[in-house]
Amino acid sequence: MSSAGSHPIVMASNRKACVVGSGSNGLAAAIVLAQAGLQVDVFEAQPIPGGATRSMELTLPGFTHDFGSAVYALAASSPFLSKLPLKDHGLEWIHSPAPLAHPLDDGTAVVLERDVEAAAAELGSDGGAWRALTEPLVTHWHDLAPELLGPILKIPSHPWLLARFGINALLSAKAISRRFKNERTRALFAGLAAHSFLSLDEPLSSAFGILMAVPAHAVGWPIARQGSQSFTNALCGYLAKLGGKVATSSRVDSLDALSGYGLILCDITPQQLLAIGGRRLSETYKRQLRKFRYGPGVFKIDYALSAPIPWKAPECARAATIHLGGNFDEIAASEKAVRSGQHPGRPFILLVQPTLFDPSRAPAGKHTAWAYCHVPNKSTFDMLPRLEDQIERFAPGFREIVLARHVLSPSHLESMDANRVGGDISGGVIDLRQMLFRPTLKLYATSAPGLYLCSSSTPPGGGVHGMCGFHAAMRALADLKW
Ligand SMILES: Cc1cc2nc3c(=O)[nH]c(=O)nc-3n(C[C@H](O)[C@H](O)[C@H](O)COP(=O)(O)OP(=O)(O)OC[C@H]3O[C@@H](n4cnc5c(N)ncnc54)[C@H](O)[C@@H]3O)c2cc1C
Repeated sequence: MSSAGSHPIVMASNRKACVVGSGSNGLAAAIVLAQAGLQVDVFEAQPIPGGATRSMELTLPGFTHDFGSAVYALAASSPFLSKLPLKDHGLEWIHSPAPLAHPLDDGTAVVLERDVEAAAAELGSDGGAWRALTEPLVTHWHDLAPELLGPILKIPSHPWLLARFGINALLSAKAISRRFKNERTRALFAGLAAHSFLSLDEPLSSAFGILMAVPAHAVGWPIARQGSQSFTNALCGYLAKLGGKVATSSRVDSLDALSGYGLILCDITPQQLLAIGGRRLSETYKRQLRKFRYGPGVFKIDYALSAPIPWKAPECARAATIHLGGNFDEIAASEKAVRSGQHPGRPFILLVQPTLFDPSRAPAGKHTAWAYCHVPNKSTFDMLPRLEDQIERFAPGFREIVLARHVLSPSHLESMDANRVGGDISGGVIDLRQMLFRPTLKLYATSAPGLYLCSSSTPPGGGVHGMCGFHAAMRALADLKW
């Protein structure tokens, strides 16, 4: 084994690689390695592949629910995933007429339209400010996405574009919201920025607002026909065509069991790498991994419904994704409470109502919905009453249409996907430090030659874009010498 600067040369004894974990990043990594001609085995602990991109009958027979991710703006934007022939393997995106609606207490909703012009018109006197914030980035999204969906510390291919994004992205959502005159636009931006899990007065919180808004216009916020599993199945189908294999119900408890592989890529988080790979890692690297910080968790409910959700604002029926939480100040208070370890009385809720646009997921005339709110990491608090009070606030009579509900607390989420540590859906906090050095200065590499991390605990972090897996596999291939 020898090393050359920051790129150690890995002398692989065979052309066999394996990936631990079959989430979107693990499968993306496996596909890159298989495309390079390696023989690839994927080991997955759960009975079905996909990690946080799976669907299952969580409530009643005939109702298909997305266990984790449901809306795929980042997958549709991904410079890697969007170029794979996933359509040939059964993936079909469905776009609701508008990506997002955000109901307010006056019985109306502010709707984020897909088209920038239409969005600007909807936002009235804030239309110009909205266009100024988003339009230049929407126009160049296909150049900007590769810059943002990877390690940030590199020589950019499009420096002016990145600078244009960075000037606003480094600010807090609160600072950006001052550009809007209307409470409605500020509420809309608060909901988008709250995807960050940061307090809305923290630097970088606006980055997430912009990163959610720009793809809404550029590629839309699609859902996958028949549920998220069809997305994972398409990745597995393409991997199989390349000769890769996925072994389910195959938890890896120690990397020692994988000694036959020249390369090992781990779609797991630092805590798990310490547990299964400890003996292989240097003491310095292990110390660095132990400093990695996980973020807040989520409390999620899946619903089987007898009818569509009875929104007060009829516009809500045009969007698959709904943000519930009222105005900017209320959403900011909710996120600040979670960031400081508390449970908000009126939580900000992300809700998806897929069956309005994809009836294949429920028996005829019936519906599903998925809703979650942020809670402190490892929370055991029952948020169900507060979460449903928020839905009732904007859709009176909601509880009466519930046929069945399935609750996923943070610990329940983690029991079904070990990467959801304490209920964290992003693979670790994404603040400035953990965005730059994720999970350490080495990014995808570890202290052990031939061993890499490829989960959302590496750049660019959470979301279904596969780019953690793509970059990790490219790094592994670059280090490789047969
Ligand atoms: C409730 C929820 C809603 C979300 N909504 C969205 C959304 O709408 N859009 C979006 O883009 N993102 C969303 N996300 C985030 C997104 O799903 C994740 O960021 C993404 O799935 C991370 O992919 P991954 O491959 O890094 O990890 P995962 O998808 O978590 O996959 C990791 C896999 O590794 C397996 N594994 C772990 N340890 C071992 C082991 N020792 N041996 C074998 N296998 C192991 C796990 O079982 C799992 O299958 C959501 C997440 C959740 C939980």
